[in-house]
Amino acid sequence: MTVLERFLKYVSYETTALEEKPTSCSNEKMLVLADALLKELFELEPNEISINRFGVIDAKFYGDNSKEKVAFLAHMDTSNQASGKDVKPQLIDYDGKDVKLGDSLILSATDFPSLNHSIGHKIITTDGTTLLGGDDKAGIAIIMTALKEVLKTKNHRPLEIIFTTDEEIGADAEHVSMEIVDSKYGYTIDGGDYRLISVESFTAYGMKVKVRGKSIHPGSAKNKLVNAATTLFKFTEALPTFLRPEDTAGKEPFYHLCDIKGSEDEAEANFIIRSFSEEEVGYLIKLAQFTAKRMNEKLGYDAILLDIKPQYHNMKQVLDKYPQIQEEMESVYKKLNIEYEYEAIRGGTTGSQLSFKGLPCPNLGTGDYNCHGKYEYVDLFEMEEMVKVVKELMSA
Ligand SMILES: [Zn+2]
Repeated sequence: MTVLERFLKYVSYETTALEEKPTSCSNEKMLVLADALLKELFELEPNEISINRFGVIDAKFYGDNSKEKVAFLAHMDTSNQASGKDVKPQLIDYDGKDVKLGDSLILSATDFPSLNHSIGHKIITTDGTTLLGGDDKAGIAIIMTALKEVLKTKNHRPLEIIFTTDEEIGADAEHVSMEIVDSKYGYTIDGGDYRLISVESFTAYGMKVKVRGKSIHPGSAKNKLVNAATTLFKFTEALPTFLRPEDTAGKEPFYHLCDIKGSEDEAEANFIIRSFSEEEVGYLIKLAQFTAKRMNEKLGYDAILLDIKPQYHNMKQVLDKYPQIQEEMESVYKKLNIEYEYEAIRGGTTGSQLSFKGLPCPNLGTGDYNCHGKYEYVDLFEMEEMVKVVKELMSA
């Protein structure tokens, strides 16, 4: 099967990530794809293969022992921001003109300039009713195609293939059984533009804000009422208003208000705090704590309570200790004449967590663009180039 045939097969499975469950993956439909992948891997005669209760597959292929064992990772689930049911991919020879996605949507290079790189390439789009699922079934298709070709050569490194579940709800690294994983390092194949290499991600914290008000009849409330809802608004506005996602880019940090609800009695909001450095994120946390403290002092009681928890960390802290990974990637891209660039991900990857659990993992592209929505498309040329990259990394 070609990478295109594999891709079209994998996107036909509905694998939307739903609510997290303690004992299984979030949507058992993922297990149908996991089963199909297990069968395909079995045909390649792995030396060891397992699937755990979350549907995470780990397959090992012994190889040239003098070379370092390396893992390749991709995730089976898709985002729940758009439907992933009955995906009907369209294969298009892209010439720069607008592409109709069903009756109502237009995929245009004016809105999505990344399409300009795809002129003369085949692209795979949606029909305008679902997402495509290239995130991350393009990664799975790339790994499976490269693996099958590399195994024929008999001259490959010891390889470990890990297909995860629930990446889109941030649970995939937890689902991986680290006692089974024995590679020195790995590559997640889960990015966009195939030229981009990511060795940096956000350091991420979640901040829950709870406000307890003092509710008094509004007719006699003067100097007594503490309205929880308005107090929460004030707290939100007291955080630096230009450190929000809509006003920041590159390596700039932000506070993002994800949701807010409440009444005069009680109010609650969830924020995420993101930065590329531990020091800077420390300042952002202190600033939020200081703001709550000062507001509480003025109110005369602990009206505002903060619960701040780490979510993941910038993988650069770990990857910097493994310069050989960077050297290996660079030599492969150079050999294949691909003009690579480093990109700091304004988000997290599986590697942001696995790097800290003992499996350092930079992230590489797949050729998938506009993920998580109906405008998602994959550039076939880029997927094919990534098959070459992964093949080289498997044999390096
Ligand atoms: Zn992904």
